[in-house]
Amino acid sequence: MMNNDILSVIQKSNNIGITFHVSPDGDALGSTLGLLLGLIQMNKNVYIMSKENLPSSLSFLPYSNLIVSACDSVKDNTDCVIVLDCGNVERINANLDLDSRKYILINIDHHLSNDQYGDLNYVDTEAAAVGEIIFDLLKELNINIDKNIAMCLYTSILTDTGSFKYPSTTIRTHNIAGELISKGIDFNDIYKKIYENKPFSKVKLYGKVIDTMEMHCNNKACFMYLTKNMLNELNLEDENSGDVISFGTIVDSSDVTVLIKETENGTKVSLRSKYIIDVRRISEYFGGGGHTRAAGFSTDMSMEQIKLKLIEILNSELIK
Ligand code: 5GP
Ligand code: MN
Repeated sequence: MMNNDILSVIQKSNNIGITFHVSPDGDALGSTLGLLLGLIQMNKNVYIMSKENLPSSLSFLPYSNLIVSACDSVKDNTDCVIVLDCGNVERINANLDLDSRKYILINIDHHLSNDQYGDLNYVDTEAAAVGEIIFDLLKELNINIDKNIAMCLYTSILTDTGSFKYPSTTIRTHNIAGELISKGIDFNDIYKKIYENKPFSKVKLYGKVIDTMEMHCNNKACFMYLTKNMLNELNLEDENSGDVISFGTIVDSSDVTVLIKETENGTKVSLRSKYIIDVRRISEYFGGGGHTRAAGFSTDMSMEQIKLKLIEILNSELIK
């Protein structure tokens, strides 16, 4: 049951902005566009803020052309801003001018590491995707979940559950997905547009990254590296190349997989785990966050320094 204050603020607001976390994924964008379409049904003036352009793999989503880096700030007369799928202020993908704000800030999320930074907060860590929360929210607002909304929310759930395989997936997740499919969406087509639609060069990049794979900590930790040089060699922009990390988790002996990525401003680390390591706790130690089995952080350390530091930490937790 959604917080009543959030429902009434949305009902009373005329001008509503929506935004999400940096490097937006299927959950951030699917839940945002689903909410946008619902609020349009309620005749709200609603807009999306983003500092980044839309990842091309999600351009099939209805109204995704509204996600452009030119619209990254709060418009005049905004009554409320809703931030989706984002655990802390530093990761918000918009200039919200928080200190001098005249609008109400609503934080709707499912990350365990959420700082409750909104005036109103709804954080359901049981939800496999924010799309599940938006599904309930739209129902409570008496909005008709039409085919377009269903496409957005299904995308959100599909991507954040790793196609219904992560342990965050519940009976409720499947029930919601079933109801969304009953709206007439082509779920197989959505799958192909998201997962079987990569440029050749990006698949070649996976090859380069997989080639760097090393096993540490009694073969329980798989490390991979992605450098700017690899992107340059393939004429690739740094467009969400993090999904290559899933190749580490398929190694039989690996519990934790670490992808260390060179970026314009420092080093970005993504972590996944299968059974033992709580990767959120490790990421929080370095100022990041996420979920128990998927988390990440950024650091000023070099790729080599953070590698050695992580091997040390993981050794103490994996080799007992
Ligand atoms: P990914 O490794 O795909 O970038 O992120 C996996 C999960 O960790 C996501 O739920 C994401 O929100 C979280 N995450 C990744 N990087 C960071 C970070 O720098 N800070 C925080 N707070 N969370 C992160
Ligand atoms: Mn999410």
